[in-house]
Amino acid sequence: MKRSDITLHARHRDKLQALLAHPRGHEGAAYMLLGKSEIAQDPWDLEPRTRYTSYEVIAIPQEDRVDASDKHVTWNTNSFAQLCRRAKEEGLVPAIVHSHPGGFDGFSEQDDRNECDLFTMARNRNGEGTRLVSVVQVGDSLYRARVWEDDMTPLHCHRVTTIGTRIEIQSTDAPPPSETLARQALAFGPEVNGLLKQLSVAVVGCGGTGSPVVQLLARLGVGHILVIDDDVVEHSNLNRLYGATRKDADHAVPKVDVMAREVTMMGLDIEIQSVSGWVDAPDIRDALKSCDIIFGCTDDHSGRLYLNRIAHFYLIPVIDVGLVLMPRDDGEPGLLEMAARVSVLFPTSACHGCRGTVDRVRAREEDLERLDPAEYERQKTEAYVRGAGNPAPAVVTFTSEAATMAVNELLAGLVDFRGSGGWTWQRYRKLDKGFERSQAAQPRSDCPVCGSEEYWGLGDVDPFLDRIG
Ligand SMILES: [Zn+2]
Ligand SMILES: [Zn+2]
Repeated sequence: MKRSDITLHARHRDKLQALLAHPRGHEGAAYMLLGKSEIAQDPWDLEPRTRYTSYEVIAIPQEDRVDASDKHVTWNTNSFAQLCRRAKEEGLVPAIVHSHPGGFDGFSEQDDRNECDLFTMARNRNGEGTRLVSVVQVGDSLYRARVWEDDMTPLHCHRVTTIGTRIEIQSTDAPPPSETLARQALAFGPEVNGLLKQLSVAVVGCGGTGSPVVQLLARLGVGHILVIDDDVVEHSNLNRLYGATRKDADHAVPKVDVMAREVTMMGLDIEIQSVSGWVDAPDIRDALKSCDIIFGCTDDHSGRLYLNRIAHFYLIPVIDVGLVLMPRDDGEPGLLEMAARVSVLFPTSACHGCRGTVDRVRAREEDLERLDPAEYERQKTEAYVRGAGNPAPAVVTFTSEAATMAVNELLAGLVDFRGSGGWTWQRYRKLDKGFERSQAAQPRSDCPVCGSEEYWGLGDVDPFLDRIG
């Protein structure tokens, strides 16, 4: 049976809670428009899946409300027709949301009848292939969802995930407790282990920061790991590439193969999948769309801008790691600057472009080098492009520290170990001076990616991520 799940942006969850609240405990109702992410094949269970992402929450107009009590809510459907019209025009999926303030955890027979009528109406209006999602808020914070599609039997979503500065998962298939993670349960409670086990996490770039990130994720008990990299092990990587051996470098073994081998050898029941290729390849899209979190551990500027768009279109947080080790400019050994940066990219926070954490000119040069190498070389000789320059310094303790900071940001999204709750949008640690700065990462209002809600949670569009070329 085809599986589906829903991701709610926390600002939408907050708005739903406000719209559905009633002073005397009556049921409430609202609409949503959802983006759709069709996954042809999940990398782990190899099954097709659909993920719906919250795009907009819409109040039902006062004049459409008919009646409500603690057991029912009814409204007339003028505004539902408008919702369907917008869904069709904008390529979105209409959704109805109602509450069960008394705590009934499920869909009632009355719900079945109402939704069946609304689905028929939606299908008559929008044609074959129309879907209707129904979400019920149980009490004031538990969500259940199902999808009407094809026939008259709705399909239950196995998971509703809410993401803002933390990740909250409400799942119908929670895993059993793990013996190997018992000591971690002593720190955070067994629930956190269960959440980690359910997560699917991609690591893009398996070098100095990516390889320790993979090791840490596996030891934390993240159930599903995807590693993406198109490089092979070289002798110059062995000072920092966790798991890699001299033999791997002698035989130019792909870095992703080393990651998969090492995690499999741990014997911790972690399912690791690997893809060798550049992150933009069409066959990697599905794999990335299947993930709950993406770690950006590449110094490729174009790839990082690409991941940033995934975060906004698909509501998949990207935790991006950067390390600055700037050599002295007089040719003597030594560093002028040493700093680690971890950025969390997700709607309501600024994109890489607005943070200044990606060099857009360099990103264009990388695109040219990848897509038209001859033209890139020509422009380089004529000094139209700057080229990548000398290899950057790399020290294993610094790359590992940056990786630990990044994985702790994921942990902060799951457990309140810092007290404040949730992740920080950006941390910048001066490795030589021993201090750290948190940065707010405010979006710029004129930015197409992070400055307006147009793309946030939009899901699949053609062209992919609304990118030309
Ligand atoms: Zn109901
Ligand atoms: Zn921006």
